[in-house]
Amino acid sequence: MGNFRYKLAQFMIGRNGFDAFNIGLIKLILIFIVADLFIPGRLLGRLTLFMWIYIYYRAFSKNIERRRAENQWYISYVHLPLKSYLSRDRKNYCYFKCPTCKQTLRAPKGRGKIRVTCSRCHNVFEKKV
Ligand SMILES: [Zn+2]
Repeated sequence: MGNFRYKLAQFMIGRNGFDAFNIGLIKLILIFIVADLFIPGRLLGRLTLFMWIYIYYRAFSKNIERRRAENQWYISYVHLPLKSYLSRDRKNYCYFKCPTCKQTLRAPKGRGKIRVTCSRCHNVFEKKV
């Protein structure tokens, strides 16, 4: 067993391995596996297979610079926005977008009609919260 681990470690030298993007894809596969129980057809099963192939391609890839750029893209445009969306306090705050710059803003719930100044573009508008 120790020999196998050593050989695996040797094999992975200079390769990308499992980064945040790959782990995100595995989580998506888990969602697809559950969704596949309820959605007829073979589409999700096929997508899952291609995703596994892509995950292993990325894990064993020696083009680490390229894989890091992909991972950075994933973290900036998928992981962090999703994390921020899922951790919203919907019980106490109302979330909405600035009509001018589309920045997501929040205000405490139950205040009625309020005047909002956007934190990004300083646009002033009225909003019922
Ligand atoms: Zn704005």
